[in-house]
Amino acid sequence: MAATTELVQGDITGQRVDAIVNAANHSLLGGGGVDGAIHRRGGPDILAECRRIRSEQYPDGLPTGEAVATTAGRLPARWVIHTVGPTWAKTKDKSPLLRSCYQRSLAVADQLGARTVAFPLVSAGVYRWPKDDAVRQALSVLRSSDTAVERAVLVLFDAATLAIAERVAAGTP
Ligand code: ADP
Repeated sequence: MAATTELVQGDITGQRVDAIVNAANHSLLGGGGVDGAIHRRGGPDILAECRRIRSEQYPDGLPTGEAVATTAGRLPARWVIHTVGPTWAKTKDKSPLLRSCYQRSLAVADQLGARTVAFPLVSAGVYRWPKDDAVRQALSVLRSSDTAVERAVLVLFDAATLAIAERVAAGTP
């Protein structure tokens, strides 16, 4: 069955869900945006696990479109699912990779037994993916994927992005 999807405005680090998804980078060693916020608020245990995953599983870094889980340190969630979105490119359609971030994150959530999962708008920050299309890709995967996740929350950081997401969710141009 597909998860019920919700749009909320806010900071993903405060979400009371089983797992939050991190828009990480290949290194898994932290960065800006949502990644920085998760490590700042979650504390050093998350980074220590990321380092272990790097050395044991992904010496060359986590590939784009893949996802991997750690515990969540001091965050209210139990797990952080780290995924790497593609950078936006006008001349190349990388949407299969963006969709894969949501698909692989749901698969990891299923392996963990997470029933509620919060997602940021992957790739729509430093990686410059247009927000409306980022929402379109996210919702189309979340609404159609077969998963044991019951509630998928798409967390939009500010009011303007929430307004874009609501318009896309309603199917209005
Ligand atoms: P990427 O490198 O994948 O583009 P970013 O972290 O730069 O990732 O941005 C992804 C999205 O997350 C952007 O829309 C950004 O505004 C948003 N964002 C940044 N910080 C937070 C946060 N604390 N909670 C939720 N969303 C956030």
